Formats: sequence, structure tokens, C-alpha cells
Amino acid sequence: MSVSPSVFLKESEENSAKFVETKQPDAAFIASEDPLQNLCLASQEILQKAQQSGRSKCLKCGGSRMFYCYTCYVPVENVPVEQIPLVKLPLKIDIIKHPNETDGKSTAIHAKLLAPEFVNIYTYPCIPEYEEMDHEVALIFPGPQSISIKDISFHLQKRIQSKGTADDPEKLSLKRKRTDEQASCDLSEGKCKGVALKKVIFIDSTWNQTNKIVTDERLQGLLQVELKTRKTCFWRHQKGKPDTFLSTIEAIYYFLVDYHADILKEKYKGQYDNLLFFYSFMYQLIKNAKYSGAKQTPKPTH
Ligand SMILES: [Zn+2]
Repeated sequence: MSVSPSVFLKESEENSAKFVETKQPDAAFIASEDPLQNLCLASQEILQKAQQSGRSKCLKCGGSRMFYCYTCYVPVENVPVEQIPLVKLPLKIDIIKHPNETDGKSTAIHAKLLAPEFVNIYTYPCIPEYEEMDHEVALIFPGPQSISIKDISFHLQKRIQSKGTADDPEKLSLKRKRTDEQASCDLSEGKCKGVALKKVIFIDSTWNQTNKIVTDERLQGLLQVELKTRKTCFWRHQKGKPDTFLSTIEAIYYFLVDYHADILKEKYKGQYDNLLFFYSFMYQLIKNAKYSGAKQTPKPTH
């Protein structure tokens, strides 16, 4: 972490001169362009200061950390929580992380820090029970059964309608009652045609471990949704994985951008950009460090 502020500022100025449309879908990015350049971000001055003064104390556990504590999910002493942005999300997010993963390398924590009311992190195999919520929850995972974001509402509706008939007899009456109530309530409000999704689940781990989690029987039967193809800005690709394998915070961010346009049907105006508050800063540090040949840099892996 020996990046001088002058290098950092010079770099920023140069990059802001060239406009790159950041909200492009699909793999339209040219590798040399930087999709993190035109985000609507809160001032990162506090991160610059913290980066210059070095590690600081976690006020919860006392550990010495840079920017935030990855075990307590809070910013450290020299990054006051009031000075980092708070992001409002249109739904809840559960992140399931693999126990073998190094917490310090995960970008999932960024989501918890920046949208604490909306995000929960669970360590596998301790995960919530989703069975009763499978008409309002989706798992973000690119599997053979997965659907695209714009089709979420349709598939959730179908689930609500087919509930009572497809279930096993023991649960039938209870579930039918519940879904009937839900359906009539939604119809009377005249809105359920659109959104029924209340929560999305992301898996935070390396590719091999992801497969293990995704085949857990408690996650079977959930609607699986895949993201549009986008290239990662990640500074450390997983070995053997293509550059379309996103870090967890990128996946969350891109999901929300598409959800906003395709499900909420609203123009995206940067509402979730601050989810990349830490990510874009760290990305910039790594980029700068590469130029200056520094070796001590944070290296999240997913
Ligand atoms: Zn701590």
C-alpha cells in the first residue's frame, strides 16, 4: 500500500477525461476501458485518508484492519461509519459464504457495510430455511434451469398459481390457504402482475465450493436466476475462470441495475452505485500499485 496521492489524483483526472458508458449490458466493454469510472459515488476522501494513515482498530473486536473489519462487518476507527454511504435496496439480500473462504478476501462484506439493513451474510452450512418462501425468493446462479431477470415475475406468479396442486398432500391445505390469501390480496391491490420478489440469494465462494452449496437440498426448488454476461473488473481472476466470472459485489450490483430497469421499470440513475464505494477505490489502488510496482496490496478473491 505505497501509492502516493499524487499518482492517485493524476490517474483519476486522466481517466475522467474519457467518457465510458458504464451501464452497458453484455460483453461490450473493451478490456482497456474502465467501467468503474463513471459511477455516482460518494466522496472517497475518507478512504484516501485511511489508506495513507494505514491500518486502524476495529471498535468491536480490536483487530487491526484496513478500511473495515471483515469479521465484524463494520468500518474501522479511522473510517467513521457516518462518512461511508448508506445504500437503499429494493429487496433483501442473503449472502451465503463458504466457511473455508478467507473473510478478508471477500467483497461480499462491502454489501453488508454499505446496505446493512438489507443484507445478511450466512456461513454455510448455517443457512435460513427458504422452503416456505420459494414464491418470493430467487437464487442468483447460472445453472441449466436458470432464467433471466426479466422473467422473474412470470415464474414467481406461476409458482403461486401452481402451489396447491403440486405440493404433497400434507402441506396442501395450509399452502393453498396461504397462496389464496396472497393472490387475492395482490389482485385487490392490482399490482402483483409485477413484483413478487422479496429476497435474492448470492453465493460467495470460489467456483468449486459454489457448486457444493448450490446442490444443498435446502436450496433446491428455488427459482434460479442468471445475470447478463458482463466482464469483471476484478483485479485477481480465479485461475482457469473466464473474465465474466464476477466478484460477489459486482454480481450484486449488476443484478440490482438490471432489476431496476427490467422489473421496477424505472430508469437507472446510479441508485446502487455506492455499493461499489470500497470496490472501485480498491480497484483503483491496485491499478495504481501495478503502475508504481508496489507489492503490498489487498487482494480479494471473490
Ligand atoms: Zn472486528
